[in-house]
Formats: sequence, C-alpha cells, structure tokens
Amino acid sequence: MPAERATDVEYDVPDDETPAARCPYCDRPFRTEEYATLHVGTSHAEECTESERNAFEELRDDETYDLFTFHLKAAVSVFFVYFLFTFLYALVWSG
Ligand SMILES: [Zn+2]
Repeated sequence: MPAERATDVEYDVPDDETPAARCPYCDRPFRTEEYATLHVGTSHAEECTESERNAFEELRDDETYDLFTFHLKAAVSVFFVYFLFTFLYALVWSG
C-alpha cells in the first residue's frame, strides 16, 4: 500500500543503527520508543493492551504525535492525488 510505504521511509531504522524499540505485534523496528508506542496505538489499536493504550493516549498530547500524524496525512494526500489523476486520465482516454 503506497501510504504505508511512504511512512516506512520516515521511520525505518538504518542498517547501521540499533532500533530503540520494536513493535511487539508486527516486529517492526523504531528509532524511538515513542514512535513504537504511537505505532501500536494507531496500527494495533484493536489488539494492544490497556497499558499500551494508556501510553499512547499520553503521547497523543505530545508534539511527536503531531509530527507522526502529519506524515500519515501527507502520505494519504499523495496517494489520493495520485488516485485522482489516474482516474481523470482514464476518464479522458475512455471519453
Ligand atoms: Zn506493529
């Protein structure tokens, strides 16, 4: 999914860096524990424990969350624009 790939670029840990935290659900590495907490709270909201949920709620007021959602929104916007252009292109050629 393009939206997921776009956020991977931002949060993936380079090979020469040891990840500070890992997602306990999908084993994805993160550069900070905050990012892992935010990832669990957004991607695994259904399955995460209550303490993980609380940690996420606490972080959500933090500015880290603004940055996190900003990148998510940017990725979704890019995907939407791409979809729109593909749609218009198909429309023009079919008409
Ligand atoms: Zn995960």
